[in-house]
Amino acid sequence: MTIIHWKEEIEKRKEQLLEDTKGLLTIPSLLDESNGKEGAPFGPEIEKALSYMLTLGEKSGMTIKNVDGYAGHLEMGSGEELIGILCHVDVVPPGEGWSFDPFGAEIKDGKIYARGAIDDKGPTMAAFYAMKIIQELKLPLSKRVRMIIGCDEESNWQCVRHYFNKEEMPDYGFAPDADFPIINAEKGIFDVQFTLDSNNHDIGEIQLVSFQSGQRLNMVPDRAIAKISGRSLAELEKEFKLFAKTKNMDCRTILEEEVLTIQAEGKSAHGSTPEIGINAGLMLAEFLKGFSFTGQEKKFLTLLDQASGEFSGKKLGIAAEDKESGSLTVNVGVMNYSCQGGGKVGMNIRYPVTHNSEQIEAVLTKKAESDTWKIKIIENNPPNFVDENHPMIKTLQKVYKEQTGEEGELIAIGGGTYARSLTTGVAFGALFPGREDVAHQKDEYMHVDDLLQAAAIYAQAIYELAK
Ligand SMILES: [Zn+2]
Repeated sequence: MTIIHWKEEIEKRKEQLLEDTKGLLTIPSLLDESNGKEGAPFGPEIEKALSYMLTLGEKSGMTIKNVDGYAGHLEMGSGEELIGILCHVDVVPPGEGWSFDPFGAEIKDGKIYARGAIDDKGPTMAAFYAMKIIQELKLPLSKRVRMIIGCDEESNWQCVRHYFNKEEMPDYGFAPDADFPIINAEKGIFDVQFTLDSNNHDIGEIQLVSFQSGQRLNMVPDRAIAKISGRSLAELEKEFKLFAKTKNMDCRTILEEEVLTIQAEGKSAHGSTPEIGINAGLMLAEFLKGFSFTGQEKKFLTLLDQASGEFSGKKLGIAAEDKESGSLTVNVGVMNYSCQGGGKVGMNIRYPVTHNSEQIEAVLTKKAESDTWKIKIIENNPPNFVDENHPMIKTLQKVYKEQTGEEGELIAIGGGTYARSLTTGVAFGALFPGREDVAHQKDEYMHVDDLLQAAAIYAQAIYELAK
């Protein structure tokens, strides 16, 4: 039996690994479609980053392929079965406020700073070195191992769509583009929009002139503004201030020219975790539903009421739960109403991995029709799930434990990771538990020690999967 000291093998190559990581990080591989062309659809810098990886692979004796500049791969080993490692080399724009050059890849206090350090160039390089070591040690493999390098993960995933249209889907694999230990369950994502026409014949004592909250389905709106006209507005203003106080909510009100403007402040959060945020729109609607609105306005507020509560979809009739991934969640991300323009309500629903979207669709369609709303399914992205007894999971757990001394626990999330573009894929690193998540933030970094440790984990994992 061969005993390989993976950490030592990585340590021996540390300087080169850091140099290659720096080289990749200093390419500002931002989406630039306006300068895209055939063979480089996402612009010259992303093309440069892809070529950089392919060149490294070629120098290490791997088979390489550039698939029209959308994605590419590096491959080693031989055999029927194909193991995939899915990475990406595009990055999000750096944004403001950096204390380092976002494309300088400076190392300070054991951290390497750059846009893409943890998402996903550092982990990509760790996985590449893992393959390189196996290649250099000439370890026999009974399967093929392929690193697939995507170029459009941060935007539209055109990379994987194009790639898998043309190339083979791995039998199974992992994506080093999220967290350690192992994310094996990602809920389904179901985006739906309700619209209501403006045909309001009923005019009550007070009218909802307009209501606006949120711009993106997958975010919890942190602000809502309503304009109200009609009788007793000063009363209403007073009541709202009281309501805001009991809810501990920041607010502003302006009463002028027979129109009361109310602004409520909540707390933003990702749509997969609505319980962490405070939905300003739903709070404002909760207050307003106690008043005598009629017609379309009432329908609008009623739908918001049905979507509120514990974010579980209970009042909408779509609540669901499983032991693999937990409860369905509903985030109401967009709420718009105007007396001329009608109503629009957008929801981002995350459903458990053992469920499907058909029942949700059926229930919501029925609800919409009975209240004369129109319903449109914007997107249905099915769940991603690999059973805990799958041999790959067993191997990854064993390797993680041997390398870190910690349990290779399985994680279920509401968000979507790159792993869901594999038919049988999990997210495996490279952010270690307890580490600050700095992906997409200013001063993004990766600990150099984590980079080396991730490389050792990937090396052993790939070898044990493919030997
Ligand atoms: Zn990523």
